[in-house]
Amino acid sequence: MRKNFLIVVFVFALIFSLQAQMPPQQQMKLEDVQKALSLVDKPQPVPDRYKAGFEAINAKDTMAMLTFIASDWTEGRETGTKGYMIAADYVVSLFKMWGIKPAGDMPGFGGGRGMGGGQRGGTPATPPERTYFQEFGLKSTSDVQSSISLTINKAGAIQTRDFASGVDYQAMGGRGGGSGMGSMTGPVVFVGYGIQEPSIKFDELAGLNLKGKIVIVLTEAPGRDDPKSPFQAKKELKEKYFPAAPAGGQRAPGGAGQPARFNKITELQKLGPAAIFQVANVNNDAATFRNMSRPAVSHINDDRPIINRQRTSLAIPGVTGGGGPMGGSNVPTMTITRDMANAILGVTGQKIDDLKAQIEKTFKPASKDLAGTGITMTTTAKTALVRAFNVLGYIEGSDPKLKDEYVVVGAHFDHNGIWQDYIWNGADDNGSGSIGVMNIAKAIATNPVKPKRSIVFALWTGEEEGLLGSRYYTLNPAFPMDKTIGYLNYDMISRPYDATTIARTMQRYGVPGAEALVKKIRAPWFVTVNLTENTPFADIAREMNNYVGLDLALQSSALGVGSGGSDHASFAQVKKPFVYYMAAMTSDYHQPSDSVEKVSGELIAKISQHGYLTIFKFADQ
Ligand SMILES: [Zn+2]
Repeated sequence: MRKNFLIVVFVFALIFSLQAQMPPQQQMKLEDVQKALSLVDKPQPVPDRYKAGFEAINAKDTMAMLTFIASDWTEGRETGTKGYMIAADYVVSLFKMWGIKPAGDMPGFGGGRGMGGGQRGGTPATPPERTYFQEFGLKSTSDVQSSISLTINKAGAIQTRDFASGVDYQAMGGRGGGSGMGSMTGPVVFVGYGIQEPSIKFDELAGLNLKGKIVIVLTEAPGRDDPKSPFQAKKELKEKYFPAAPAGGQRAPGGAGQPARFNKITELQKLGPAAIFQVANVNNDAATFRNMSRPAVSHINDDRPIINRQRTSLAIPGVTGGGGPMGGSNVPTMTITRDMANAILGVTGQKIDDLKAQIEKTFKPASKDLAGTGITMTTTAKTALVRAFNVLGYIEGSDPKLKDEYVVVGAHFDHNGIWQDYIWNGADDNGSGSIGVMNIAKAIATNPVKPKRSIVFALWTGEEEGLLGSRYYTLNPAFPMDKTIGYLNYDMISRPYDATTIARTMQRYGVPGAEALVKKIRAPWFVTVNLTENTPFADIAREMNNYVGLDLALQSSALGVGSGGSDHASFAQVKKPFVYYMAAMTSDYHQPSDSVEKVSGELIAKISQHGYLTIFKFADQ
């Protein structure tokens, strides 16, 4: 899962991180639980059509491959590094042994040089064959520095004041809050809470044009502690502007399958401002200064390494938001202190809390353009280009017509690399998922009968940086996206649930009458399967579980919805149905301690067998 986005959220989500990639949780009804759970402890013999491939998947080979891929030799497989390429070439050599065809770039396009897959020199006798690599450039940005200066022209007297990042303001979200390097100057507008609520005839943006301006806005809504406030009295407005923090163990809404929650900043960003400076509704400058004064690593956890790595972000050049579905907006957005807000509001002769009190008293907008006020934002950063490689292979379908349709089976191959003496081996994240893809490839290659449609096997790079490899593929597919009918994603499929992790997850199934059913769940074989609703995936997954014997929790989401922080989101973004498997999240998540001796080869093998059967049947329909 992606780094920069997480650093911010992770601090808060750490308590809940055990469910970071878990599906969201709405209270369920008994029939939902029965529909969601597929518990099979006595599997039947697998049908002959799939048998040879099914039996080619086993825990022994699984662990043999994972032990190399997650060894210190591959140095945590960070995107663009030698360690990643050593592991990638290992996969290519196995693909060749199993007769998996290359699905990457044409030779001479990129992936050739020194990468084993491609051609070298001379004019080829036979038509050039593809390589196993899809090569592309990623832009790395590091050492982002920004500064803000204020100019106020009051009756001809020019005043200026400078503000510093991490002292007077804090960038929100990744990418240093800046929209890339350079400087930008613009006029300033104060919009109160920036709310447009026709239902109560309250519009703070009426008559204003935010385009190209720096917007000063308060968080939440007026009347936080005033029961008479329409934003308190009306339930839907209260939930919209004062959302309750997710209850213990519950994931915040907006995950896979849930409608995205209202986000005022996102709505304001759509109006094209040059930047947004938000001020906390409730004065918590003391907390802001305390947080900003702390070192990056403030919470020293004695049994974890102290990581003080320089932050670098990667992005696909030229793709809005830098690539991944999480790229978000390019409008720089900051949280500023009251001291800074009051300085900016200087021409009004009022302080931010005076204007807030006025709005809360009258429930009338106090928005205004700040005449004579200008803000210049300057951002500097170090940038470079990184060579990145997805690994791609395929097996052609058996049906003369349907073989021109494709199902993609993928997992991210990259992880967090090496720093000083620490290596993030990423055995579970996502060495296990990568082996899952290779197991399915070997199984289909071994099985005499092939599915009717063609199967593409993909190991993505750049997932930890923002789902970049899978996103790049959906923008530059090896085979037409309009002929691609679905996607299987594996991420972290090797750590069995235990009593604690299962208890937390079971909260959502704790509905009256489901006790007996839930009791039957065997934690070590429990797997969550997130899939697109109204597609064959759910029925196929249940049917095929009869031959595998896992305890599956099926969760469906609407077509096009697929957040939750893994590569299925890239395919959801282009409206492709997906099925996404994940086992338990543990405290080794994104730690150097995520190493091979902790994983269960049996669990990976079983989840691989289930994926093999599910994709086979899906590609056959
Ligand atoms: Zn992952």
